[in-house]
Amino acid sequence: MNMRVDFKRFDGLLDTTILSRSSVSAAGTGGSASLLRNLARLGIGKITLADFDSVETHNIATQGYELAQVGKNKARAVADDIAAINPQTEVLAHECPIEELTEAERQAFTSSDILLGVTDSIQANGLVNQWAIEAGKDALFGGCYAGCIGTEITGTFPDVIAEGRGCHRCFTDPRFRAAAEGEQAPPFFQRHVLVAEMLNVQLGYLIVSLLHLRAGSDLPITRLARRFLQQPLLMTRIDPDFYAAPGEMFSDLAEGYGALVSRHWHRDVPADFICPDCGTPGV
Ligand SMILES: [Zn+2]
Repeated sequence: MNMRVDFKRFDGLLDTTILSRSSVSAAGTGGSASLLRNLARLGIGKITLADFDSVETHNIATQGYELAQVGKNKARAVADDIAAINPQTEVLAHECPIEELTEAERQAFTSSDILLGVTDSIQANGLVNQWAIEAGKDALFGGCYAGCIGTEITGTFPDVIAEGRGCHRCFTDPRFRAAAEGEQAPPFFQRHVLVAEMLNVQLGYLIVSLLHLRAGSDLPITRLARRFLQQPLLMTRIDPDFYAAPGEMFSDLAEGYGALVSRHWHRDVPADFICPDCGTPGV
C-alpha cells in the first residue's frame, strides 16, 4: 500500500505548502538526530545531512539513535530513518566532515533555505557561518552547556547583518579566539539525551517559524522567528541556579549578548572588534 503522511492536523497552525517547498541542511546529525527526523514528520521537502561520525553505544543514551544502528554512519542512519518516516521528503547524506564536501556538494548544501550548525566543532560551525554569509542564507546554531545546565541557540541572518547587528561568530567570538590560542573544550563532554531533546524542540520551532516568516506567511507560528530576529541569541536555563551557582560557568553573566561567554572561554572583546565573518562590530 502506497501511504502518504496526512497533515490535516496542521490546518491553521502550519502551511504544508510552505513546508513542502522548504529545504534544510545540517552540519552534524548527532544530537540533532531526532530534530532532523521530525523535520520529515513536518513535511519539509528536502533535507541535506553531513556527518563523518558513526553511532557508538554511548550515543544511545545521549542522542536519538538505537543499538541496532551502532557502527552505522550517523548521517546515513538519520537519512534511512527519514526515508522510512516520510518518503515524500528528499534526503541526501554526506558521510564526511563538511570540510571535505566537493565544491558542487558545498553549493548544494548551502542552497537550502536554512543551514544548521549543530556540531561539537567550533570550526565546523564557523565554516557553516561563513557559507551562510557568502550565500546570503539563514543559519541556526545550537548547543548545550557543560553540566547540561542550559541550551544556546544563535542565528546568522542576512538582514540582521545588513543592519550591523552581528552573526553567530560575533556572538561566540571569545570561543574562536580561545580555540585559536590552543585552549580545548572538555574532551569528554558529559551529557544525556534530555538536554539534546530540549535543544531540538527549540530549534525545530525556530526552523518552522523562520520558514513561514520568510515565505510571507501570517500564521501565528511566524511570531517566534520575528522575535528571534530582534535578538538572535537564545539561552535557556535548565538548572534553576544557572546564573547563580558559585564557581559554575555562568555565575558571572552580564546582561544580554555579553552573556554568551563561559568562564572557561571568556576573553575580553577588544574595543576595535570587527567580526572576521560578517564584518560588523557585532554587538
Ligand atoms: Zn559576525
